[in-house]
Amino acid sequence: MPQAINDSSLSRIHAVRKNFPNYQVDGLLFSSMSNIRYLSGFTGSDGVLVLSSDAAWLLVDGRYTTQAAAEVQRISVVQYQNKIQGIEQAVKELGLKRIGFEASFVTVEMYDDLTQRLKQAKLVPLGNELRLLRACKDKHEMDVMRKAAAIASKAVAALACEIQPGWTELQTALHLEMTARRAGAEQIAFETIIASGENAALPHAKPTNRKIRNGDFVVIDFGVKYQGYCSDETCTFAIGELTGDKKNAYRAVLRAHDEAIASIRAGIAAADVDALVRDILGEEYSRYFVHGTGHGVGLEVHEAPRLAPNSQDVLTAGMVVTVEPGLYYPDRWGVRIEDTVFVKESSCEIITKMNKKLIIIK
Ligand code: ZN
Ligand code: ZN
Repeated sequence: MPQAINDSSLSRIHAVRKNFPNYQVDGLLFSSMSNIRYLSGFTGSDGVLVLSSDAAWLLVDGRYTTQAAAEVQRISVVQYQNKIQGIEQAVKELGLKRIGFEASFVTVEMYDDLTQRLKQAKLVPLGNELRLLRACKDKHEMDVMRKAAAIASKAVAALACEIQPGWTELQTALHLEMTARRAGAEQIAFETIIASGENAALPHAKPTNRKIRNGDFVVIDFGVKYQGYCSDETCTFAIGELTGDKKNAYRAVLRAHDEAIASIRAGIAAADVDALVRDILGEEYSRYFVHGTGHGVGLEVHEAPRLAPNSQDVLTAGMVVTVEPGLYYPDRWGVRIEDTVFVKESSCEIITKMNKKLIIIK
């Protein structure tokens, strides 16, 4: 519902402005499209949002003027011919002297151009300060994230009934994506991972022409977008009869996954959730767990916070994070189990819907 988005856009901009004194700036220049969407409602793929203490300007080129005017309210849409000149003009007219910018989203070339053009103004790089900007979700965001998760889970559940030995990974990915599109997905959130046999030992495997066969684990890491928001879930299916070591590994990963989710509540350090997973996996398994336990999800599939050994983040109510322990035995096989959860005061809600008990495909 557009009304809800525009109302929240104003309160989000207000929240950013409240931090101007902390950032020691009198204006802020956003170039991350996810942050621009979050703050303005604009869904295009190029533009700049300039905030001063009392004005908000969305700068776009001619491809987006009509779209931007329809999508944003109480934000001035300004068309530019040249982005740098557009920013220069906005900074001048808004009288900005110290302008914060997203250090991770401005190229060296753009930074050089801006410093040359904005002689009277100082550019202030912001990184960590803006990391958690989108981390806590509001009610509208949670509604669409639950819907995204439900669409993806439904497609994975349908796949569990249809997949057969002999299908290739690519064929399986196509099948899954088509089902999700039919169920209402507006986009696939990231490159679908269908990794069977030895390919499952690669955490970010690409689907290949390998045929799924008896005795395989098949890792299915899948997400869709709904109203711009991503879902993220991983199931590992067993094809036919598994060897004992695979069954034990699945059990260990599931236990680590379940206990980590049971530990999640507002106030827990993200690094502690990760440590709990490694603890439960124990020495035997944890050296095969080669990535962090989880990440935030929202307009981007990977966003703050991070659940990893060196993370400084503390989970707060409203955050949406994944829990995804996995084991990877190079050139042999792998297993991963992932759910996405919504952090509450004293627990969390699992928003991805597939049951994580081992599914055996006969
Ligand atoms: Zn995933
Ligand atoms: Zn993930």
